[in-house]
Amino acid sequence: MTTASDDAALRPTPISQQPLQGKKALVVGIANKDSIAFGCARAFRAFGADLSITYLNDKTKQFTAPLAAALDVEDALFLPCDVREPGQITAVFKAIEETWGKLDILLHSIAFAPRDDLHGRVTDCSLDGFLQTMDISVHSLIRMVRKAEPLMKDGGTILTMSYFGGEKVVPHYGIMGPAKAALEASARYMAYELGEKGIRVNVVSPGPVMTRAASGIDRFDELLAQTKERSPARRLVTAEEVGMATAALACDFAGIVTGETLYMDGGYNIMAG
Ligand code: NAD
Repeated sequence: MTTASDDAALRPTPISQQPLQGKKALVVGIANKDSIAFGCARAFRAFGADLSITYLNDKTKQFTAPLAAALDVEDALFLPCDVREPGQITAVFKAIEETWGKLDILLHSIAFAPRDDLHGRVTDCSLDGFLQTMDISVHSLIRMVRKAEPLMKDGGTILTMSYFGGEKVVPHYGIMGPAKAALEASARYMAYELGEKGIRVNVVSPGPVMTRAASGIDRFDELLAQTKERSPARRLVTAEEVGMATAALACDFAGIVTGETLYMDGGYNIMAG
């Protein structure tokens, strides 16, 4: 007699130790070893993915190059990408097409706002500062997704980094708050538009992590202390932890998750105040 436990269809589906083996991932936003994008890239690589990494410009290349080497990135796939420089996004995707012929994962982990606009009130934000913030922090994702779409022939996963300040008012987060709100809404619309092609678009929303970008936010140390005190986990998240959870989200076994904003913040976002 056959028992339920003999039926192969009822057995747990085996999961590889390297669930991203054979996947090709582009990571944009590694400035240095503290970058959230580096935490993600390390996890993608640990899960078996092959990586392409970008750096901002010749001045910053020296900080990113050793990290690319540690992640086994081929020279042809370690490229400059300042999203405001015409042609650089196109060149990155062309190199990926020529080298890999496809793309499975795109991680967009960049943001920028001019200092005066970031430190001032949203009420006082200049038009130029607003446009620059939205261009680099939001529209760059749209431009990259447009390039990724034809390369994600077998479906794919797109991930971008947001913060709770896009949903609720976080003092001193300033114009980045409206930018993150626009980023999250753009991701949801693209998730809808690309879903039938098997392309997932998700937003990761980490708690505060001390990085170069974060150091530009006024009174960031207070935000760190407050998060630590008030979050259910009673501690801060690390870039490495964000990386591991983001890599899990990129795996096929998370294939039904799209259009979401996933908090990786020790539960801070569930608290009333
Ligand atoms: P980071 O300074 O390490 O990374 C920011 C990246 O943006 C850098 O690699 C920088 O080169 C890139 N960038 C800026 N202008 C660019 C341009 N014109 N073209 C291309 N790249 C450009 O800081 P991070 O904290 O790792 O930031 C990564 C993402 O995570 C950002 O979207 C940030 O808003 C988000 N985030 C950060 C935190 C935090 O507390 N650090 C929390 C939640 C979300």
